[in-house]
Order: sequence, then structure tokens, then C-alpha cells
Amino acid sequence: MEEEQEYLFKIVVIGDSAVGKSNLLSRFARDEFDHNSKATIGVEFQTQVVEIDGKEIKAQVWDTAGQERFRAVTSAYYRGAVGALIVYDISRSTTFENIKRWLDELNTHCDTTVARMLVGNKCDLENIRDVSVEDGKNLAEEEGLFFIETSALDSTNVKTAFEIVIREIYKNLS
Ligand code: GDP
Ligand code: MG
Repeated sequence: MEEEQEYLFKIVVIGDSAVGKSNLLSRFARDEFDHNSKATIGVEFQTQVVEIDGKEIKAQVWDTAGQERFRAVTSAYYRGAVGALIVYDISRSTTFENIKRWLDELNTHCDTTVARMLVGNKCDLENIRDVSVEDGKNLAEEEGLFFIETSALDSTNVKTAFEIVIREIYKNLS
């Protein structure tokens, strides 16, 4: 009898404090949003099953639990990751300027085959936009990343962002 292959993909979510990492994860895994989320307590990762080409894939998505505030995201966090969402807040350009630092950190801990998505979150805040879509696209192109804008608040593109990364990881397997 043939064994069903088990697919388990570790995906890390990184980026500055308060860009919406924890809410992207809770929107993806539980379809929940938290308006006054403090530092995420305790939860290291959440697992969500996604179907790609008829295959069940478990996406194990890791959250920093606020460590990024102290620049202390550990190597254990990155260990074994095959995908990464690198997140900034479109209403705060400093979070976009720091993307390069997050990419450097990712590169020191993971090899270059990790599927990477640049995520401009909070696209619902169009009225106070501080980073243009063009700037996001250009950076992604320069760095060889996928690019998407999301809103964890109104759900725009959250599922899509994760699915593109998962699909890419799956594609790289075969
Ligand atoms: P983290 O520190 O990166 O994990 O960020 P959080 O998920 O804790 O979110 C930080 C703050 O931004 C919270 O007040 C959230 O309610 C808010 N937030 C997160 N995502 C969005 C979004 O897509 N749109 C808006 N308007 N606010 C968001
Ligand atoms: Mg958080």
C-alpha cells in the first residue's frame, strides 16, 4: 500500500514591531483580528492545512512573540524554515527602510532557497499611506522576492500571501 506523503512547511513571519505580523497569522489561521493586540504571549506557531494541487499541506507558521522589539529573534526561530513573510507597514516608512536588515538577518540564518514574500500590510490605511506600491514592487524585484499588499484588518490578500509562498515551496520540492 502506498503511504500518503506528509507535507509540513515551516514559514516564519518577520519584520518590525507592530507591522501586523501576529494579526496576519491570526487572520490566516483562525480568521481573527485583534484591535489592541499586545505582545503575543506564548504561542510559537500555528498550523493551518492548505490544499495545493489536491495535496494536503500543513503550513506551520511561526510568530516572533514580540522578540523583534529587543532584536533578539533567535536562530531557533529560523531553523528549518522553508518560507518567509517579510512584513512592513505601508503607513510607516521606517518599517519599510528596515526590510533590508530583516533580509540580512534571514540570509544569515537560512539558505537562499527559502521562498520569500515581501508583504506591505495595513493597505486599508490608504489615507495615511507612507510607502508607495511602486516602492514595494521595486524593492521586491531588486531582492528577488514576491510582493503583495495585505490587510489583516479587512482580510485583503492574507490567504493569498500565504498560499503563494506555500505553492512556491511545493514547486521547489519537485
Ligand atoms: P506585530 O507586532 O507585528 O505582531 O503587530 P500586531 O499584529 O500586534 O499589530 C500591531 C497593531 O497594528 C495592532 O494594533 C493591530 O490591531 C494593528 N494592525 C495589524 N494589522 C493591521 C491591518 O492590516 N490594518 C490596520 N489598520 N491595523 C492593523
Ligand atoms: Mg506580534
